Amino acid sequence: MAPATANGRLPEAVFPHRPELLTHDPWPGDGQRHWTPRQIYRAMHGWAFPYVKSRVLPGDFHPIVAYLFTEYKCNLDCHYCYSFDNRVKGMSEELARGSIDWLHDSTCRVLALMGGEVLLRPKFVHKLVDYAANKGFWIYVPTNGRLLQPHVIDWLADAGVSTFNLAVDAVDEKPGLPKAFNPIRPYFDYLVKKQYRYGYTVFLNINICRNNLDDVKQLTEIAHANAISTDYHINEMPLLEQSHFKHLENNPTYIRQEDQAAVDEVLDWLIDKQQSGYGMTNSVERLAQMKQFMRGELEPWNCRAGQNTVIIRVDGTLAPCFPMYSATYDWGAVGSPKFETAQLRQMKQSCERHCFSTLNHIVGYCYNDRRVIHWLLKQARHGFQGIRGNFE
Ligand code: SF4
Ligand code: SF4
Repeated sequence: MAPATANGRLPEAVFPHRPELLTHDPWPGDGQRHWTPRQIYRAMHGWAFPYVKSRVLPGDFHPIVAYLFTEYKCNLDCHYCYSFDNRVKGMSEELARGSIDWLHDSTCRVLALMGGEVLLRPKFVHKLVDYAANKGFWIYVPTNGRLLQPHVIDWLADAGVSTFNLAVDAVDEKPGLPKAFNPIRPYFDYLVKKQYRYGYTVFLNINICRNNLDDVKQLTEIAHANAISTDYHINEMPLLEQSHFKHLENNPTYIRQEDQAAVDEVLDWLIDKQQSGYGMTNSVERLAQMKQFMRGELEPWNCRAGQNTVIIRVDGTLAPCFPMYSATYDWGAVGSPKFETAQLRQMKQSCERHCFSTLNHIVGYCYNDRRVIHWLLKQARHGFQGIRGNFE
């Protein structure tokens, strides 16, 4: 383990922990998922144990998943995205370290890095992942892939990333959708190839927009051909006013009423594919709900933001969830959270019907002992070799 630094910054990352994996020669087990007991323990440590603790400990704020916004800058400009502002400085090393230490003292053991584009400072992220993995966190790295060069993959995989979420919306770039697959194809191939020896998983994260419906299908087939899963969002306008957001008018990505039938067709196609065995993180029920959401007919759901999920902004202040990044309400800061159940409950009466936050829906759906036990039994039947199915 790297020694602590006296100045409160992140320690230098150790690299490589496993030099033998750096070879480009074939490696035993390449192409086949085999999780070691250590990897299975890390997944249980990340998800199951914090869930149980959150059920038995007194109080309401017991985070299971924390989103750490290390950046708010981005190297792209997706026209639906209000989650970046290139004037905002990235998180300091001291704050990143302090955040991980604080989360480590809580129930939380799942750390999702967030941006902006997380890999704008790859050495910083390498140190951060190495530090958090040493403390036992299950780590999720989302990226648009443009900076995911092979040596960065090796750094982060060797340090202990559990999942790479590769966000792409189109096969080739198109108006308003620069997050495309072909520009990052060589990095994708390397990422997929190396996943088995390091033990991380990869999935494609796809936002369903008005102008990418064919791409959604093509990307789904690409993921399936490479034996990785997909995760879908349905494009939405910002919940809160975002003064820095420039694309509210004439946005080619927003779904209009006249596009709904075409989107329904894609959702039905995805449901068929999932039922025929394609790996997807969204349940069939959840995909079907996207039709309701698009029509403004979403029913209230069991949102657990501010109780079991939390975001840490680049300046160390807290909020319950990603859609509330720009909210001005004071929910406290790292080390001094101020979440109150009554305030959250009242707020959710208005935002829950307009919010399709995928992670919070999953946490809300899964925050149920019967579903957790059922899901764990399903994994046990498969010897905990990778994630089988979703929580449906
Ligand atoms: S790559 Fe991600 S953070 Fe950057 S503009 Fe696109 S959606 Fe937003
Ligand atoms: S419903 Fe959505 S916006 Fe409201 S608190 Fe939950 S995650 Fe946040």
